[in-house]
Amino acid sequence: MSAETPKKPENIVIIEPHIARRGLLYIISSPSGAGKTTLARRLLAVDSNIEMSVSVTTRAPRPGERDGVDYHFVDRDKFEMMKSRGELLEWARVFDNHYGTPRALVEDTIHAGKDVLFDIDWQGAQQLSEKLPNDVVRVFVLPPSGGVLEDRLKSRAQDSAETVARRMAAASSEISHWPEYDYVIVNTELERSVAAAHAILTAERLKRARLLGLSDFVRDMQAVL
Ligand code: 5GP
Repeated sequence: MSAETPKKPENIVIIEPHIARRGLLYIISSPSGAGKTTLARRLLAVDSNIEMSVSVTTRAPRPGERDGVDYHFVDRDKFEMMKSRGELLEWARVFDNHYGTPRALVEDTIHAGKDVLFDIDWQGAQQLSEKLPNDVVRVFVLPPSGGVLEDRLKSRAQDSAETVARRMAAASSEISHWPEYDYVIVNTELERSVAAAHAILTAERLKRARLLGLSDFVRDMQAVL
């Protein structure tokens, strides 16, 4: 500690950073157009202890999307190679495209005690739940109503009318998976949804089973009592 660093008052104990914990896998799924991507971005902005999992996809970039930031854009051969080498933790076909989660970032991040945020569909949520059942927290985001979802999909300039129609049909099928999730947020007002998503994250971090260092922490505490 440098001479300039103010000394922390002795009576203030910030419990969480003192206790070793395994990071969690925070999965957000929703039908296209329910606001999940914006919600995920806002959650990353309000909490520095969670990292986004950037997926690989064979889909072409939309205007404004950046390689390595929104997705890692790859061709089908590269995708299949990553799959066969075991470099993907889960993968799925959504519409006509292939999507997958690179394994390395997830494993490194959770072992370092940080959390990982996923914007993936129900197929990915199911696979991660099977592989890492104690580490997943699954949140399903619903639009306020079917009409609102329809309006949002129509106002997305990047997608053709045909794509919008297909996404409306797909939305209904994606929504049918809500019972497989731990939490549901109805995204009526963005900041309220961000607060709800953050509250879920905070509570899940404090789960006793995730605090691997808790028994050591309590033992040290009892040693001075
Ligand atoms: P979009 O093409 O609109 O970005 O994404 C289409 C759907 O694919 C969304 O529901 C999104 O959450 C999902 N998705 C994106 N990346 C992945 C991934 O790595 N795995 C899975 N299973 N789904 C993904």
